[in-house]
Amino acid sequence: MATGRIVKALAGYYFVEPDKYEQGAEGPIRCRARGIFKKRGESPLVGDRVDYTEIGGGEGTVDRIHPRSSVLIRPPVANIELAVVVFSVAEPALNLQLLDKFLAFIEHAGIDAVICLTKRDLIDGPDGEEAREAFEAVQRIYPPIGYRTIATCARTGEGVDELREVLGGRLSVVCGQSGVGKSSLLNAAVPGLKLETNAISEKLGRGRHTTRHTELVPVGRGGYVADTPGFSQLDFGELQDADLGSCFREFRELAPECRFRGCTHVHEPGCAVTAALAEGRIAQSRYDSYTAFLAEASEKKRRY
Ligand code: GDP
Ligand code: ZN
Repeated sequence: MATGRIVKALAGYYFVEPDKYEQGAEGPIRCRARGIFKKRGESPLVGDRVDYTEIGGGEGTVDRIHPRSSVLIRPPVANIELAVVVFSVAEPALNLQLLDKFLAFIEHAGIDAVICLTKRDLIDGPDGEEAREAFEAVQRIYPPIGYRTIATCARTGEGVDELREVLGGRLSVVCGQSGVGKSSLLNAAVPGLKLETNAISEKLGRGRHTTRHTELVPVGRGGYVADTPGFSQLDFGELQDADLGSCFREFRELAPECRFRGCTHVHEPGCAVTAALAEGRIAQSRYDSYTAFLAEASEKKRRY
């Protein structure tokens, strides 16, 4: 028996990349899942760490799934450790509220995040003023609350090495709205990765919600990146009010100091979050995003 990671699932087969290759062997082992999984209503996922048995000819069986640290629904990938949140400084204009929404969902999924700012070249263009402001706002707000930011540009290659370094050794997913430059950036950083650009998916007539098979692409030091973007549907329907505060890192840290347990950080007296906001220790834009999401979540609840 050996251990490895499922890097692709297709037509009932799980392709397992061995942790250690036998002498002379190469490529993933094409495995079937043992019947026991079906009986238990479980199924292996891309990203799973597994025990497998090779039965010869590059074929084998998945015998056991190791406990998962996270599970993402779209794309269905287990054990993602890092989400690379890609936002362009312009074209489309950087929307801080949308950035906070991605970050909140990623926190909820229990995954770490880094923020990648793309299209840095646009700051030096004729209409660079707004881009510069967006760039500086992100640099001011997010590193102090623990989000690493990487300034990148697919055109000049800036930040590409740093991104590759961050991706190494762990399992990552890329996210961000379409057109921000995810494909251009990741394809530059990861040899062998071919994220579909918008232009291509339009040509193929693929809808945004068409299911695709997700594959993990090796990025060095045993790390992988999923070739399908994640968190494309951001819907607060399932989140409770109290959960939302815990999806904002700096609020979560302060919450134990609030007078009431389950404080929603809105009208409650003795709230450490609104106190920090008043003292300028929490960014107004973060708080505004939070209250907007609260309203959105309660609107959803009313409708269902
Ligand atoms: P995706 O939808 O997020 O994967 O974005 P794409 O990688 O398909 O890029 C969207 C558009 O932005 C394309 O027209 C790219 O040529 C353009 N783009 C990508 N990176 C850069 C960059 O660094 N600078 C500029 N100015 N444009 C870029
Ligand atoms: Zn509070």
